[in-house]
Amino acid sequence: MSNWATAAACFGEDPELFHAGERDPGAIKQARDICNRCSVRTACLIAAYQEGDEHALRAGLTSRQRRSHLRKADGNVARAVANALEATPVVLREIYHLHAQPAGDGHVLWTDHRHVINVRGTPYTVTRLAWVALYGGEPIGSVQRACRVDMCVAQPCLTDRRMRDRAAAARKKASV
Ligand code: SF4
Ligand SMILES: [Zn+2]
Repeated sequence: MSNWATAAACFGEDPELFHAGERDPGAIKQARDICNRCSVRTACLIAAYQEGDEHALRAGLTSRQRRSHLRKADGNVARAVANALEATPVVLREIYHLHAQPAGDGHVLWTDHRHVINVRGTPYTVTRLAWVALYGGEPIGSVQRACRVDMCVAQPCLTDRRMRDRAAAARKKASV
């Protein structure tokens, strides 16, 4: 086993999830969520190209998506990897800046009529899209709005589960 593989977020997960194929979107989503919080995605994707893996979902990408990235990069693996892993946050950032308008008092309003947007086959709620665009990575658990302003997508107004857990722990500590 390669060194990076022991740090894989899928270590110990059901391998079936990663081999379910494109006809099982539920399994793909579950596997992709695991890949999205994996710290060794780059090494995994390079290895997938080197191994010629034609079956498993790797680094959140199906083999069809990997082939497409490699084709667009004229067979250059390094470029294909860079494009594949950069693409989502960059695209989400562009979408965010297109549709987010400052509303004063630090709030930022989402102005598009769509509340769920499909990017590279993954549906993003507006709050999750904003999170990835603003932080450049996936949230832990769901993203919730901490303020009461409808459709606000300002960075300080969004929380993920890790933030909420930390805040709850801090409150608990302060109350004892
Ligand atoms: S990127 Fe996904 S498939 Fe690759 S090691 Fe990480 S969790 Fe496993
Ligand atoms: Zn707000």
